[in-house]
Amino acid sequence: MRRVSIFGATGSIGRQTVELLVAQGGPEAVRTVALTGGRNVAELARMALALRAEIAVTAHEDCRDALAAALAGSGIEVAAGPQAVAEAADRPADWVMSAIVGAAGLVPGFRALAHGTTLALANKESLVTAGPLIMAEARRHGARILPVDSEHSAVFQALAGEDTAAVERVIITASGGAFRDWPLDRLAAATVAEASTHPNWAMGQRITIDSASMFNKALELIETREFFGIDPERIEVLVHPESLVHALVGFTDGALMAHVGPPDMRHAIGYALNWPDRRPLPVARLDLAQVGQLTFRAPEPARYPALGLAREVMRAGGLSGAAFNAAKEIALDAFIAGRIGFTAMAGVVEEVLTQLSGQGGLQNAPDCLDTVLEMDRAARARTAGIIAAKG
Ligand code: NDP
Ligand code: MG
Repeated sequence: MRRVSIFGATGSIGRQTVELLVAQGGPEAVRTVALTGGRNVAELARMALALRAEIAVTAHEDCRDALAAALAGSGIEVAAGPQAVAEAADRPADWVMSAIVGAAGLVPGFRALAHGTTLALANKESLVTAGPLIMAEARRHGARILPVDSEHSAVFQALAGEDTAAVERVIITASGGAFRDWPLDRLAAATVAEASTHPNWAMGQRITIDSASMFNKALELIETREFFGIDPERIEVLVHPESLVHALVGFTDGALMAHVGPPDMRHAIGYALNWPDRRPLPVARLDLAQVGQLTFRAPEPARYPALGLAREVMRAGGLSGAAFNAAKEIALDAFIAGRIGFTAMAGVVEEVLTQLSGQGGLQNAPDCLDTVLEMDRAARARTAGIIAAKG
């Protein structure tokens, strides 16, 4: 029986993964090794019982007792703390979902690769912070990484059976987020609540705000480069308000292969779960006559400065991705906490990159996880300092 583990099981991606596993037969069809979560202990326990997991792990020490109480008598092991989350990845599994949010997702996904597992990678921060390291680790152990981010899953599907040497360009689409039609001069005063509503996708709060700022698409540009090994100049972003075309691949003969589907992450998750097969999934079928029109426009640089920053990060390479992601996470925390405005986020991130590159540390290759995590910490501290100086 196939062994599966889910990191970040209680999140938006994690829950949908569990839902699909249950729909495909649950414990009768798969053996669940590890499920991890954060503070949502009740949900984690419910899932662990439903899938009869071997171990349930919360990332927080202070949640251990509640998790143990919820699973008392079940025979399911319980563990707590970041170290326990990482160790859960050392338990061999054939298919692992990496769906912890943020840089915290890097270590467990990386460690799972050592078993030659199939890693379904939703945690985009992994490739942004440590792309070359992760791809090399996968090669070393014969592990396979399947993209779960919808755009990358779309590119992956458009490339199936194609000669990658004939790829001319890759286009990933963006809804444009909550503020795509706002007058530019209103953006500085945008509230957290306003930034937390997505026009098409239902996702976690952080990624939803990152969609409004396009920091999400900025991460995805870097993710595209790292995953598919495509030159940055060949990767384009296209605003597509309907969010039905997820990505397009352009070939040397002029053909564009588009991936079209409803904005429902269960497609990309299910594709990764069933790969290399396709199995029926509970997603809506598109009625294009009903849709009527698909529209596209170029992203405005002034509205989405994060895209320009991502291009600089790709040019600089080295540890810039780790610094970029860390600075973005701290700037986002500060925005959510009401300490900086919406448009200040990009300015803060740019300042962090400028300061760190002045010190020469960004060029170093991400040669091991420690180097990456050290840059992550340094960039977080630098960002916090810059934000404190502003306030
Ligand atoms: P959520 O915020 O909904 O869930 C995050 C998960 O990670 C939860 O299980 C949470 O636990 C857990 N978690 C949070 N902090 C930590 C930590 N420090 N250590 C260990 N676990 C932690 O995120 P999403 O599901 O939206 O996103 C997950 C990843 O997938 C992100 O990298 C995101 O960018 C990516 N992604 C998401 C998409 C989506 O549609 N949501 C689309 C494409 C990519 P708890 O909630 O119990 O505290
Ligand atoms: Mg995406």
